[in-house]
Amino acid sequence: MSMYSLDTGMRSSVPELIRRAEIEGAVLSIEEIEELLTIADPAELDLLWQAANRVRAELIGSDIWMRGLLEFSNVCRCNCLYCGLRADNTGITRYRMSSAQILAAVDRIAKAGIGTVVLQSGEDPYWTAERLVSLIEAIKRRHDMAVTLSIGNRTESELAEFRRAGADRFLIRHETANPSLYKEFHPDSTLEDRVRQLRALKDMGFETGSGCLVGLPGQTTADLSSDIALARELNVDMFGVGPFIPHPDTPLREASGGTALMTYKMIAVARLVLRDVHIPVTTALSTLEEEGREKGWARGANIVMPNATPSPYRAQYELYKNKRCIDDTLEHCLGCLSRRISSVNRTLGYGRGGSLKKGGQ
Ligand code: SF4
Repeated sequence: MSMYSLDTGMRSSVPELIRRAEIEGAVLSIEEIEELLTIADPAELDLLWQAANRVRAELIGSDIWMRGLLEFSNVCRCNCLYCGLRADNTGITRYRMSSAQILAAVDRIAKAGIGTVVLQSGEDPYWTAERLVSLIEAIKRRHDMAVTLSIGNRTESELAEFRRAGADRFLIRHETANPSLYKEFHPDSTLEDRVRQLRALKDMGFETGSGCLVGLPGQTTADLSSDIALARELNVDMFGVGPFIPHPDTPLREASGGTALMTYKMIAVARLVLRDVHIPVTTALSTLEEEGREKGWARGANIVMPNATPSPYRAQYELYKNKRCIDDTLEHCLGCLSRRISSVNRTLGYGRGGSLKKGGQ
């Protein structure tokens, strides 16, 4: 029997798969997820975008929540092969913001009405658990806001200390659910440890965020479907997908990198499969395509992370080159994002925008 309908020219299984995922909330198999990721026909892609957008509208409404991103140290002990911050890259200027600088930047985030700060860094040994606990407590004393940590691998006892100090969320992307690819690109950690950390964080009451890179050398659509399936298994509260953009001072400088199209597909399919999760549009996506944020929001995403890292550090947090918006202030970013959000008939979400699994408060 032909897989194609004579009326529409579409593979008959694709509209049916999308319908089952959207309307019935069917639990798709890894093979079915992969089938959606391999859609190439423009009419079928359109069905996918629309279905993801409807699920987002029904479960979340029109709000797009902001997370104030503060990249407080670009020092990293690790050597992930794709990353511009890797320890062996001597071509970037390293920095560590002081606690006073961090608190001043957090004050600006709070003043702008953003209900979450994301404290992001490389795996920087200077930032011991003790120092981070003092920082989290200081933020919590000053502001009624959610604190998200994105600081890489930590021991379970350290994670418990952060939780006791008041940290609400923890982001740690699993990057790729393919164990051999993970091993190839991450000499300092294992996929097993990442997954163990994500499970431990959940048990401690953190809202968790994971995610993956799109377009790593050797990565297949089967791998990407496993990335979504792993996020489903881990019951994450946020799922971030970024295209891999090769950095010229890394071993992967010659790689071709990820595409915007596959990143949109991952956003849309993740929305259909994971449903009540926050999905951000990443700066890397908007670096690949000027309209990346608007398209991402129209295809299932509901989060944006304006960069609150002050100058000159913002440009020095060089995961990849030609990062968008490196010269803008937080206030400039907010003006630009508000206009972009209105242009797609969406609204700015105020407050913490917590886990959708707990009602989003
Ligand atoms: S991806 Fe993260 S852990 Fe790996 S080198 Fe870059 S900053 Fe360090």
